[in-house]
Amino acid sequence: MKTITSIHQMHELVSLAKRQGKKIGFVPTMGYLHAGHAALLRQCRKENNLCILSIFVNPKQFGPAEDFRRYPRNKKHDEMLAKKEKVDIIFYPSVKTMYPTGYLTYVHVRTLADHLCGPRRPGHFDGVTTIVTKLLNIINPDVLYLGQKDAQQAVIIAQMIDDLNWPTRVKIIATVREPSGLAMSSRNSYLSDPERYQAQALYRSLRMAKKLIQAGERRSGTIKQKINAQIKKNTLARVDYIECVDAKTLVPLRTIKGHVIIALAVFLGKTRLIDNIQVRA
Ligand code: AMP
Repeated sequence: MKTITSIHQMHELVSLAKRQGKKIGFVPTMGYLHAGHAALLRQCRKENNLCILSIFVNPKQFGPAEDFRRYPRNKKHDEMLAKKEKVDIIFYPSVKTMYPTGYLTYVHVRTLADHLCGPRRPGHFDGVTTIVTKLLNIINPDVLYLGQKDAQQAVIIAQMIDDLNWPTRVKIIATVREPSGLAMSSRNSYLSDPERYQAQALYRSLRMAKKLIQAGERRSGTIKQKINAQIKKNTLARVDYIECVDAKTLVPLRTIKGHVIIALAVFLGKTRLIDNIQVRA
């Protein structure tokens, strides 16, 4: 396993692999790797000749009041996990490498960021699409692996790749959860024990909502209200949003129909957690 910090070197390795006819899989992350990242890496390893992981805490996707500085980092642990998952190359650039002084260019996908996390985290998705664009240009992968955990991010990136005619295929991997149901996240490390205990209520409330829909409920207002009530009853969380949206357009639905994502974001103490579940109605 190689750790590469320079864009030029990364380009050279990728060009060589392409000349050798290797299929390249790519998993972009912000590090502090856990079993969710491992699931993406495992799929990537299985389906490609070259498995590339990037670790970059992207300052452009954090708001001024967000947790860029205190975002957890642990290079040694990440390298161990990557080795275990048989990653070939870790791309580990510095902020200066990715955004040298004078950097000006941003990539913006219209409308899809108008919902869910978009309005609550202004500029976040432009930061995401900008860094993913840069990484795709540097690595030029055949397949890109993303997690369903960040459902809106996956929809936006898939749209961008399609719109910009990249040949890269996108594969979305199911959310990996702790036995309690809590979705794995690097940010779970911020949670105190009582907060972690309360956080179980998020997925439980989403499962309850899915059951309601499967039993015939179609009013999104009722579903959102029931999720909210369950979270309020079992946690001290402050709800940021609870929404039922179309899985492709991300537009909020009054009536549940078709392929739907039920998504939520809550603050437990200072920690913002997101989760979602998919339903077909
Ligand atoms: P992050 O390091 O949080 O930016 O995540 C990097 C990639 O891993 C993204 O595509 C995430 O959606 C994905 N990911 C994060 N947590 C999970 C999880 N619990 N299960 C599956 N994928 C995940």
